[in-house]
Order: sequence, then C-alpha cells, then structure tokens
Amino acid sequence: MRKPIIAGNWKMFKTVSEATAFFADVKGKAEVDGVEAVICAPYTTLPALVEAAKGTTIAIGAQNLHFEDNGAFTGEISGVMLKDLGVKYVIIGHSERRAYFAESDEIVNKKVHAAFKHGLTPIVCVGEKLEEREAEQTKDVCKVQTEAAFQGISAAQAVEVVIAYEPIWAIGTGKSSTSADAEDVIAYIRSVVAGLYDAATAEAVRIQYGGSVKPNNVAEYLGQPNIDGALVGGASLEAASFIELARGAK
Ligand code: PEP
Repeated sequence: MRKPIIAGNWKMFKTVSEATAFFADVKGKAEVDGVEAVICAPYTTLPALVEAAKGTTIAIGAQNLHFEDNGAFTGEISGVMLKDLGVKYVIIGHSERRAYFAESDEIVNKKVHAAFKHGLTPIVCVGEKLEEREAEQTKDVCKVQTEAAFQGISAAQAVEVVIAYEPIWAIGTGKSSTSADAEDVIAYIRSVVAGLYDAATAEAVRIQYGGSVKPNNVAEYLGQPNIDGALVGGASLEAASFIELARGAK
C-alpha cells in the first residue's frame, strides 16, 4: 500500500515568523492517520520549521539543492547543509526551476543523486508545457524526464522517490488537469518506472499530481488508483486550506 503524500510547495513565500505561526495552526490538525503531510519551505524558514515539527508527523522539505556538497557556488545550498538541518524531503526539477534557472534533465539527475547521497527523499517534478500537450507530446515528455531523473538510481533508491506529475499549464493558473487525464498520465509514468526497473518497483513508487489542487478537488485526484498524493502550491499557503488538503487525502 502506498501512503498518500500531500506536500505543500510554498515557493518564495513566508518569513520565519509567518512560517512558525502557520505551523502552530496546522500542528495536530494536519496530522492525519494514514496520510503523510510535508511542507517544502524557503531555506530561511527551515531551521524553525524543523524545530517546530519535532514530535509531530509533519515532515519538512526544501525546494531545491545544489548537486555538489560544497564549493564556490555563491548563493547555493547543498544536500550536506539540508541534512544537517534535519530536513527530510527536497523538491527537485520543479518546472519553475527548469524554466527560470535553466535546470536540465542532466542537472535534475545529479540532484537526485545528491539527495540520496545525503539521505534526503527527492520529490521529482515532471510535466509538459501547454504547447507540448497540444502537440500530444505529454507522455513522451514525461517519459524523457522520468528516465533522465532515474539514471543511475538503484531499485532500492527508486522506491523511495516521489514523482510529482505537474502539467506546467496547470501550475498556479487555476486550470487543473481532469482527474481522468492526470490518472492516465500518472499510470503511464508508472509504466515507465516499470520499464526502468520492474513491476514491483513501479508499484511501490508514489506519484503525485500537482497543478491547481485545492481542498475541493484533492479527494477526486486521490480517488484515482495511480494518484498517491498532491504537490500543492497556492492552496498550501493558508493553514486552514493545508489542513483540509491533508484531511481530503485520506
Ligand atoms: C506547484 O507549485 O508545484 C503547484 C502545483 O502550484 P499550484 O498548486 O499553485 O498550481
């Protein structure tokens, strides 16, 4: 059985005081039996959130990492540093990073390796642009991105990876994929993982849908057989909404 995972992606929102106030509001309430709740927050808020999350079932994640452990990479944060803080998850290859920070499939793969090197669990984002969808290339794009991300990753590591299928045209736009379309693509991504490893590995990997998920549609996505959770941007920023998302995933 794959445990549903609701991960909030706060992007570049919230100061330390806003983050700790949010956590105080969701503590207990977003802790739902049988659901894993994760908050992927800005670097500056991570120490306070990791501290606040002690003794709770809510996991804390970063939104990026550099693939090197240390070096002359001004402004970057490495897996060593995140592990040192007590962070559990790290989002890798979010479409905003691919688009605005030129993250290639090769860089994404290096980051997945770096995450495992330091005991962090990667949430690897894949998904097509609108023009790719219109050209019926959705599955091809997801296949290429998934295969690249998993290159050199062992089956034992692969089962730990969380994949987030995020059609780019649905992120932050209020336009979401239908649950049937998301299920179709996610089932396909699972078959790609089976092709890379085997059926048992593919069955174990958790695959989220992301793209304008809200409290009122989360259950519909999670009701699909291959959708194991959601990666949520906008609707994860309000405590009440995050609580509803976690509850809706049950
Ligand atoms: C995201 O940031 O990964 C995302 C899916 O954002 P939103 O939920 O706002 O579409």
